[in-house]
Amino acid sequence: MADFDLFVIGGGSGGVACARRAASHGARVGLVEEGSMGGTCVHRGCIPKKFLVYASHFRHDFEDAAGYGWSVGESRFDWPTMVAAKSKELARLEGIYRRLLKESGVTAIDGRGALLDANSVAIGEERYSADTILIATGGWPFMPELPGIELAITSNEAFDLPRLPGRIVIVGGGYIACEFAGIFNGFGVETVQLYRSDMILRGFDMDIREICCDEMRKSGIDVRLNVNAVKLEKNADGIALTTTQGDVLEADQVLFATGRVPSTAAIGLNEAGVERNHKGAVSVDSGSRSNIASIYAVGDCTDRVNLTPVAIHEGRCLAETLFNDNPQIPDHRNIPTAIFTQPEIGTVGMSEEDARTHCAAVDIYKTRFRPLKHTLTGRGETVFMKLVVDRADDRVVGCHMIGSAASELSQLLGVAIKAGATKAQFDETVAVHPTTAEEFVTMYEPVGA
Ligand code: NDP
Repeated sequence: MADFDLFVIGGGSGGVACARRAASHGARVGLVEEGSMGGTCVHRGCIPKKFLVYASHFRHDFEDAAGYGWSVGESRFDWPTMVAAKSKELARLEGIYRRLLKESGVTAIDGRGALLDANSVAIGEERYSADTILIATGGWPFMPELPGIELAITSNEAFDLPRLPGRIVIVGGGYIACEFAGIFNGFGVETVQLYRSDMILRGFDMDIREICCDEMRKSGIDVRLNVNAVKLEKNADGIALTTTQGDVLEADQVLFATGRVPSTAAIGLNEAGVERNHKGAVSVDSGSRSNIASIYAVGDCTDRVNLTPVAIHEGRCLAETLFNDNPQIPDHRNIPTAIFTQPEIGTVGMSEEDARTHCAAVDIYKTRFRPLKHTLTGRGETVFMKLVVDRADDRVVGCHMIGSAASELSQLLGVAIKAGATKAQFDETVAVHPTTAEEFVTMYEPVGA
């Protein structure tokens, strides 16, 4: 008999979710993690990022309070205090992850695991056999090869900088670049963001992209489009970044948020004969199985939809399939998602551009307005909301929002879209007044066809 029914390499969101669910169905499960239990989401991603978003947003809140009669007095932000509080909480969360694994009956092992063959894993000198092995090793920031790139940081380092920079240049136009631009700008850091193409946030709805860019600029971020970094040099004052337009930007830190790559090197994939795609991701079928029958993979190391809740979903589907006689294929359609820019973005379903490709005819409903709160604060920030409707069956196929609480709303809009709600049903839903969300059920007239 093998040592384990399931052995998981990687203690992040996907690996832990699968391990715990499998153990709850009686499987004998082992899990190895070389870093901190909880993975990217807990230690270098979603959770610390959200803390920084909250922290940086207080500046706006203090400013806004004046419009409501408050005198807040002088406020001052202390970066080390924030970093220490954040780190303390992450340590607590790691403890919870370890406790939950233990209580679930999962054998957690600290170390670096690597496949030896289709049914065994090495951790240092130790060898473990398993009927099934799950690769859940996540991803890692990618940086292009440029002269002086070693002077730059990635999101991994951004959470623990010894001091807050006075000036930062952020390279990239995706989730991470835009979120960190908002964070540093909120802390009062002089923030320049460079994006190599026409408009940030490729893949999202174009209205959302343009309005996000507009709002980011209004809030003080110097977003520069169609420009990239060429080289970085150290100087007496910090770092000098030369752009493709020949400008030289001086900064205290340069953050590259230029994508992430699957962490699949040196974990024995070749030894076990596991195929990878051209990006280095483990190639899997719809049930997360690799080309080797006993080896599966979930989460960012498969480069499907690289989001924590998706990795969890994939992991749980796999455990149900393998250990509960309840076959489940992960559903990657209509995944709600949020980008914690300031203001934040919430979205689910197709962008207008995608819908125009997939549907014969679409109706678009949209609105942009100043939210009630800011009529007294004087802040110029707006809210934008948009519904994309398939004219053939009146179904709402896309909901997009930028504005306060958009992330929270996208979760519930996700339920509506999943349930196949029609525009008529949105219209029949009674509004909650006065809220921003009510606009989603009161946009009666299409703006374009
Ligand atoms: P993204 O893939 O979203 O963005 C990468 C950005 O870097 C793009 O703008 C890309 O440009 C640019 N880029 C890539 N290569 C280069 C290069 N050589 N030079 C200059 N620019 C370059 O990756 P992120 O790192 O922002 O995020 C990784 C993943 O993490 C996301 O896909 C997302 O799934 C997840 N994530 C989710 C969050 C959330 O849910 N809120 C938050 C943060 C991350 P181009 O568009 O032209 O390719």
